[in-house]
Amino acid sequence: MCIFCDIIDHKIPSKVVYEDDNVLAILDISQVTYGHTIVMPKKHVANILEADTETVKQCAEVTSNLSKKIVHVTKAAGCNILNNCGEVAGQTVHHLHFHIIPRYSVDDACQFIFNKSKPQDLEEVLKTIKEA
Ligand code: 5GP
Ligand code: ZN
Repeated sequence: MCIFCDIIDHKIPSKVVYEDDNVLAILDISQVTYGHTIVMPKKHVANILEADTETVKQCAEVTSNLSKKIVHVTKAAGCNILNNCGEVAGQTVHHLHFHIIPRYSVDDACQFIFNKSKPQDLEEVLKTIKEA
């Protein structure tokens, strides 16, 4: 059972912003800011780590086009494009989706906190990633 698959199958109503053969974009029920939209593939895949490249590309194209349109029509000053991947990252619906969150001011309802963390040896980090 996946709530987004049920939305895609029209078993659960939603406010459809965009739809094509592969991708659906709907208004997020929570509307963190005015115009908050989520873009998802019609194919069920849990998250970006499990998605094939074609599915990600299809979502990225729609996310790119819609973000420009939404920012324009809402007269937002910018937007955050957000993908929560895995419970540890805050993903609550385990069907890949990208949030488009229009931003109206730095102190609107959408806040990300990057806490201070211990300094890292960037050479060592790079080696870990590139030499894997
Ligand atoms: P996540 O935390 O997984 O990145 O985001 C899931 C998002 O889906 C949340 O922002 C939540 O408000 C939205 N959501 C959950 N259930 C529904 C629903 O039934 N309809 C709509 N439109 N959005 C939903
Ligand atoms: Zn699903």
